[in-house]
Amino acid sequence: MNNTHLKLPDGRSLPFTIRPNPRAKYLRMHLSVDKGLVVTQPPGVTAQQLLHWINSQMGWITTHLPKVEQQTQPPTATTLPDRLEFPATGARFRLAYVPTAHHNIATDLADDGTLTLSGAVGNPEHCRYVLREWTKNYARHHLGQMLQQLAVQTGLGYVSYSVKGQATRWGSCSSRGNINLNYKLVLLPVAWVRYTLIHELCHTVEMNHSKQFWALVAKFVPEYKTIHAQMKGAMQHLPDWTKIG
Ligand SMILES: [Zn+2]
Repeated sequence: MNNTHLKLPDGRSLPFTIRPNPRAKYLRMHLSVDKGLVVTQPPGVTAQQLLHWINSQMGWITTHLPKVEQQTQPPTATTLPDRLEFPATGARFRLAYVPTAHHNIATDLADDGTLTLSGAVGNPEHCRYVLREWTKNYARHHLGQMLQQLAVQTGLGYVSYSVKGQATRWGSCSSRGNINLNYKLVLLPVAWVRYTLIHELCHTVEMNHSKQFWALVAKFVPEYKTIHAQMKGAMQHLPDWTKIG
């Protein structure tokens, strides 16, 4: 597939997708909310002929485009968050949703802390997916920094770390010293995150939950029992956009 742009009579530029189809007999175009403008290219039709044909269909495009754009209105505040708050780092981001005819969603973070999602934002599920992916990247960076600092402070080493979207666990540690962290940790208080990271770092020494393991945890987090109890059920109380489906 090929992506390119079409200049509209009102000066705007409309992205479209060329889909070569060996079984197609005629040039065809389809306009939809999720895929935008898609042009089917049959065998033997050159790119130049295709562009000429698209331009000859401008009347059809300008008639149908407003109907599709109407369906890509900003979603209501009840289905999508208007801000992201990460207690783990103290960061807050205002969210803005800007509908365009584009079938993807792009993110842009401004200096004032506004994160703009633009594109097919009429689809709340797609928006939530983009928020999860954006937060995962954010978490990868910030949790990685925290883990590195705590490794230095505690003298506990690790081989590597990764950030994932586990459904039930905050973190895990393999026998090789690879630590997996849940990106949703950035939504928790910093003391809880610190405890979770230290818990996983301690597993690089004790691969179990033995007395020795908890004694090691207690060395760095004396109040670990309280935090451990507070964290029970915390996964269920996260914002809806973190939940898949
Ligand atoms: Zn453990």
